[in-house]
Order: sequence, then C-alpha cells, then structure tokens
Amino acid sequence: MAAPTPEPPALPALHASHAGLWLSAPGGVAQEIGKGQAINACADTPVLMLNAPLVAARLGYPDLSGLDLLELYAFLHPARFCVPTPKGLAAALGIEPPEDDAATPLFLREALVAMLAVCGRDDWQERQGAWSTLQSLARARWPWAQVLAPFIPKPERAERWLFATLPEWEESPERPQPAQVSISEEEVHGQLARLTGQGAEKREGQRAYAGEVSRIFAPRDAKGRPHLLLAQAGTGIGKTLGYLSPASVWAERSQGTLWVSTYTKNLQRQLRRESRRAWPEKRADGSAPVVVRKGRENYLCLLNLEDAMQGGFAGRGAVLAQLVARWAQYSRDGDMIGGDLPGWLGTLFPRRGISALTDQRGECVYAGCPHYRKCFIERAARTSAQADLVIANHALVMINAARGRHHGHPPTRLIFDEGHHVFDAADSTFAAALNGQEAIELRRWIIGPERNSRGRRRGLAARLADVASYDDAGGEAVEAAIEAAQALPADGWLGRIAEGAPSGPLEELLAQVRATVFARDESGGSEAGYGIETEIADPPGALVDAAQDAQVALAGLRKPLLTLGQRLEAVMEDPPDWLDSQGRARIEGARHSLGWRIDLLAAWEALLARIGGPADADFVDWLAVDRFEARDYDIGLHRRWLDPMKPFAKVVLEPAHGVMLTSATLADRDAEGEPDWARAISASGAEHIGLKPHLTSQPSPFDYARNAEVLIVTDIRRGDIAALAGAYSRLIEASGGGTLGLFTAIKRLRAVHARIADRLARARLPLYAQHVDPIDTGTLTDIFGDDPRASLLGTDALRDGIDVPGDSLRSVVLEAVPWPRPTILHRARRAAFAESGGGGGAYDDRIIRARLAQAFGRLIRTREDSGHFVVLSAAFPSRLLSAFPKGTPIERVTLDEAVSRLAAGPPARQGEMKPAAIDATAD
Ligand code: SF4
Repeated sequence: MAAPTPEPPALPALHASHAGLWLSAPGGVAQEIGKGQAINACADTPVLMLNAPLVAARLGYPDLSGLDLLELYAFLHPARFCVPTPKGLAAALGIEPPEDDAATPLFLREALVAMLAVCGRDDWQERQGAWSTLQSLARARWPWAQVLAPFIPKPERAERWLFATLPEWEESPERPQPAQVSISEEEVHGQLARLTGQGAEKREGQRAYAGEVSRIFAPRDAKGRPHLLLAQAGTGIGKTLGYLSPASVWAERSQGTLWVSTYTKNLQRQLRRESRRAWPEKRADGSAPVVVRKGRENYLCLLNLEDAMQGGFAGRGAVLAQLVARWAQYSRDGDMIGGDLPGWLGTLFPRRGISALTDQRGECVYAGCPHYRKCFIERAARTSAQADLVIANHALVMINAARGRHHGHPPTRLIFDEGHHVFDAADSTFAAALNGQEAIELRRWIIGPERNSRGRRRGLAARLADVASYDDAGGEAVEAAIEAAQALPADGWLGRIAEGAPSGPLEELLAQVRATVFARDESGGSEAGYGIETEIADPPGALVDAAQDAQVALAGLRKPLLTLGQRLEAVMEDPPDWLDSQGRARIEGARHSLGWRIDLLAAWEALLARIGGPADADFVDWLAVDRFEARDYDIGLHRRWLDPMKPFAKVVLEPAHGVMLTSATLADRDAEGEPDWARAISASGAEHIGLKPHLTSQPSPFDYARNAEVLIVTDIRRGDIAALAGAYSRLIEASGGGTLGLFTAIKRLRAVHARIADRLARARLPLYAQHVDPIDTGTLTDIFGDDPRASLLGTDALRDGIDVPGDSLRSVVLEAVPWPRPTILHRARRAAFAESGGGGGAYDDRIIRARLAQAFGRLIRTREDSGHFVVLSAAFPSRLLSAFPKGTPIERVTLDEAVSRLAAGPPARQGEMKPAAIDATAD
C-alpha cells in the first residue's frame, strides 16, 4: 500500500510592499500590521515569505529570517526561470496570482501547497539528487529541510554524487583553417528567405543589410588589412538574421568559425534563440554548432564548489553551496552570471557567495584538478573551437586577443553587435590600475593562504610543488617570488593606511597616493564622502620617493617570476618521465597565468615610472581614492589609453580577415537627421592601421512620427529634488506605471525613490529601483517586463541594456540631459578632440546624443510599441535634438502638459485602434 500523502504544514505568511505589511495566521485571513508586529511574528515562529531580503529591506530590519519560497523553488526546480514576484511565481507554478497585496499571504500558502505537491509527482524532472542534497541541507540547518523531509522519501537506489553525474568533455582534433570562399548575393538572399520563413514579410532593409554584411567574408587581399564594415542598422530591420544569413552560408562553405560579440546578455539570449533557425541544437556527431562563450569568471568552478560543500562555506553560505550543487547537476553550461542560474539566487545569500564559487582569481590548477575533465570552463573552451558560431562578449574577445590564448584558431571573422559599446569595452580592457585590491590579489596568488583565510586557495608553491622538487632552479624561483611578494599589501592594508602605519613599500605608496589626492581635491568630494581623483602633475617628493621604492619592489618580484616562466618552459622542452599529458596541460596553464602576471607587473612599473618622470602622450594617468558613503574601499594609480582603439586595432583588427561593427546607434546624426560617420569611424580604430572602412546604413522601418513623442519639460528647476520627485510621481501615475526612469546620479535616484515609492504603491503602482532594492539588474528588468503597472528607476546599465518590448514600457523619463561626468579622463579626451579641430563642446555633444539615442531606443522595440520619451530639462540645447530619429515629434512643454499627454495614453493609441501586430522585433 502506498504511503499516505503528508499534509502541508500550516504556517503564517507575511507580505511586504511599499504600501504596507500583511500577515496571515495559519488558516486565517490576512491582517494589515505594523513593522514591530511583523518583526515579532518572524522572531516567534517560521514565517512564509517571498524574497526575504526584499521583505527585510521593506521592514528596515536586515536580520529578518523566514521560509523563503524562492529558496524552495531553487531547490525544486534548479536551472528553471522564474520571475521572483507573486505574479511570476504563480506563472511558474501554473496557479492564479493574488489580486492585490492583501490577498498575497494567502497566495503564498497556496504556492507552498503547489510546490510541495511537486515532490509527489512522477514527472518531477529534477528528483535525482534531491534526497541527498536535502540531507546535506538539513545538516546546514536550512529551515526548509524539516518542512520538506516528509515529502521527499529516501530513494530505493542510492543517488549518484554530483561530480559523478556530470559528463566529461572530449578532446577533438583541431579544425582545419577555413577555406577561402566567396559567397554570392543570391546565396545570401536565398538563405535569408529560408531563415525568415515562408510567408514572412520581405524587408528590403534587411535584404540590403545582409548583402552588405557578406563583404566581410570575402578572402582578404593583404596581410593586416581586414575587410572592415561599419553598419548602422535601424531598430526593427531584422539585424540578427540579416547577418546570420551570410554568416551561416560562409560557415558551411568554409568550415570556419564566426564569432559574434555582444555587450549585453539580452542580445546573447536573443542570438542563441535566432541561431536555431540556421543551425540545429546538435550535429549528427552530438557536437554543438552554436556555443555561448564567456569569460572564465562567469562559470562555476567545481573545485571551489567541492571545497565550499566540504566546509569552506559556513552558515548561510553552506546552504547556498548546496543549492548551487543542485543547479550544477541540471545546468546547460555552468554559467552562473546570466546563464540558467536564477539571477536572484545570489541575492538571497551573503554577498560574494556566487563570485567565490567561480574562478575569479585565476587559481585554476588545470589538469591538476580532479574535476578537470568535467570542468564547465574547459568544456566551453573546447566546444567553441569546434563551433560554427561562437556567441561571446566584447571584453572576452579583446582579452583573448590581447593575451593570445585560444583553443583552436584565433577568430578571424568577427561581428561586434552593439558596436557602439566597443570603445568603452576596449577602454576597460586595455586599462591598467595599480590599486590595493589588485595588488593584494597578486599577493594571494603567489603566497597562498595566510592567517584567517578560509577555503582552498593555494599559492604558487602548492600549485607547482612537483616541478619545484624536480627542478632546483624552478624551486628557488618560487621561493624568491614568495619572498618578494611580501612587499605587496596584505590583509588590513586600508586600516593601516588610515592609522598612518602602512607596512612595506606598496602600502607606503598607496598611503602617499591617498595623501596627495586629499591634498589636491578641489571638487568638494573629500568633504562629501565621494570618490576623488587627481592628475599626476608635480607630484610631492614623498610620493616620488614612495613610487621609486615600489618600482624597485615590483621589479624584484617580476624577476623570479620570469625565471620561473623560463624554468617551466625548459621542463616542457625536456620533460621528465613522470610528466604525463595532464601534467603538461597544468604546466601550460601555469605558464599562461604567470605570463599575464608578469605583464601586469611590467605595466605597474611603467605606471610608477610616470610619477616624477615624463608623461606619455598615448596615456592618461591619474591617482584616485574610491569611496562609498565616506569610507575608502580602494586607493590606486590608474592608466587609460587616450585612444583605446589603438591597441584594439593592433590586437583585434589587424590579425582578422573580416570585421563588422554594427548597431542601431553606431553613427551620430547630423542636423538633418542623416548619419554622420566621423565618430563611428574614429571609434572603430580603423585609422590606426590605415584602413578605410566600408559604411552602410539602413533606416528603421518604424513609424516614429506616429508611435513616439518626445516631451521636454521646461519647468523643473535643476537641483530641486522635491520638484524632481513630484514630477516622477505625477508622470508615473499619469501613465499608470510602465515607466523607465533614468538617472545620472545614484544619490538623486535614491532620493526620488524614497519620496515616491510608498505613495505609488498605495495607488497599486509598484516602483522598483537599481541601487535600492536588493535585486540584481537582470531580475529587476524581468520583474518590470512582467508587470505593466510596475515602473523601474535605474542608471547607465538600464539605459544601454534593457529590452522590454510591448506594453510594460510605455514611457521613458530622463531626470536631466545626460552630460558626461567631468573626470580627468574625460577632460583629457575632450582636450585631444579639441586639438584635432573638433571643439570640446562638440565632443560632449556627441556623447550626449549617443546616450539620448540609446535611451530613446528603449522605448520603441517593436512595430506596435508606442510611448513618450520625457526629458526633465529647463534648458535642453536644440543642437542635441538630432539624437532622436527623423520625424519624431518633439515639444517643449510644462509638467502639467506632459502629465496630461501621458494620461491620454501612448501616441499611437490616442483616438485610434491599435494597429495589427506585425512580427518585427527590435533588432
Ligand atoms: S579545472 Fe580549474 S576552473 Fe575547472 S573545476 Fe578545476 S580548478 Fe576549477
């Protein structure tokens, strides 16, 4: 006889929103309660809730604990998507969402019943491993363990351990180099017709675009001179299939690999989806023709996970490690950041839990690792070498190119989608910073665990123990490096500097940097508690002396590392008998990570030589103290290329055969609204290798004149926070939510949010905010896109990256004209632009127009989208108006007028029927 189904436990449930707090006793109805009552209720007994950190933030009580349904969901359905709201959970579970806040506690109980019922179902896909993980979670005192135990019986056959269930990757022979082929326009158009499907609307812009893209696949005429195409692709032309058509024809004919690089995870997801039209999920031999490839710091490191599960993580961290292990068993590719691990999972646990499970610090021991053959990172690298299409991001493409590390051939055909971000990505990739955090990481990498450190961190000596004992000179080099690394900052360095007691030459240097930055601050930032910076001009004698000592110390560290690199090379050339292929791979890995640390040290030494020495016209250097809420969190010297496209051209463009940069906002617009290519050409790096790029532009097919309206509100005074908050509140109310509010300063965003969130919540208009809600940006966007009454406030990441088509986004409200921040770097680039005859003001205008165009681009994502773009600016210069697409109605109005326009509904819906939906997506 089957065991009787256990009864779900009767538990109280708590819901908190900006409109209030509701608690229901087991079996009772919900009552609105005060904060004190809610806190007491949670202290007395386990309480059901959804997203405990968010509830804690609403209560203003960070120590709140309870039975969080999101954790239960992560256990039951690891690697499955769920928007972490009552509505989102209801959709994931297939039950009715609550009607309002007061009904939510009851809904939480219904959700619990539905989730516990999953455990009894035969079709529960993620049953394997659940019982074993639950035993570990019980030992970690996970509050759900007791609740779940009666519902998850012990399986008859023992469950396999996670590390036994993961598949091993296979080594494959290297692909031959791609055949040199020319592809014809007919082939490309035929492929486009196949990919878009029968009966699809023929889009002339897309056909023309696809034809232009095929140019980059033509055989190259001269070494170092790739085909370079700059392609402006107006929103809605169907850019993705436009380039995947020639790409898939070329990949098939040449048997080569195309890399498409993106800036946002959204586009990566879209590309993965759309590539299914051109490639199957798997080839006949089981290999994947399309692979998403990210930097190694995105993937789960199994060795770190094993360590965390075996005591490396304590308390709540131990619970996180077990839930991540559940996920790893079901994950598609082990990608923890933007892959199938729910973005909200990490935010439910103490900070840095997720990042500590990735390989952030380059401590990988490669073939020395017991999980090497199952490692997600190694698998991703190998599958991409066999793929037809690799979907990557700008930073990874550039880092791989700069460090020359590739599995298989380096990419020679590259498409940079979201190409307007290539400059910024190159700017960060080719930057150098000698700061406390970087320096202490280097110390840990060399020395390994010191006092009080947890976890499996190992130093050079442990990683290379066998080589060191076999090769005397190598062993001595390791010893010497460990000795020299004592000069680097150690734990507690910030405290020692604050107390005026730095230890060692690098801490002394950072102390002098800090003293100089504070001495020279004229921004008021030192008083106000913000980060501050100063250029390296006329450095004080004490700073020059400290820089010289630090330079000597760094050179003293670089020397034994160089020797060690040579010894490893010698061991590889004349290998001992015991060195098997895994050992060789491990030494190869060590050589590689040693190589880039040697380069890092050389870059630091060059930066220090600048203090008291001559400036290098190619670089902009400065000193900075990074602070948050008046507390220092880092101190350092920084170096950026004046033009980061110079190294980009050298390491990415020059070795390539065909490259395209494409985006809806690649080119600026002139006064007539036509493309102005000057900025795009200079931001492509072409001129550094004497290339003349081919240019093409396909306008958007969207009817902006009918679907959009730009309103410039002229009666909100700059700096008047009360008026700014009032304007946001009225505009959000007028449009009934569906508003994206964009800010240039976090401080103002927080001030506005604090003033209006409660009031809007009472009108059933939820307001979410980056930098306020304890939720990651991707999840915030999911929540916003899932609820047409929700609004979202955010900063740059939202302006550039979110893609919310449809009714959820009906207005974008900018707090002000997005002027560039007047940093030292900005000033230097502005001056260089002015010197070249452009004028400093024109430099700023280009940046602002690009930002406005990006922000406007969030509004109209499909042909049927319609909405208002509002800028709160008393003095919006007319010369910036060309940022908006040609034909878009633009008006300067009072706030009252703007409110009544928004209240009347989106422009295309005023007095008309909504147009028939046409399948034209934003790309
Ligand atoms: S091979 Fe490296 S990254 Fe992979 S699991 Fe082992 S230590 Fe982690």
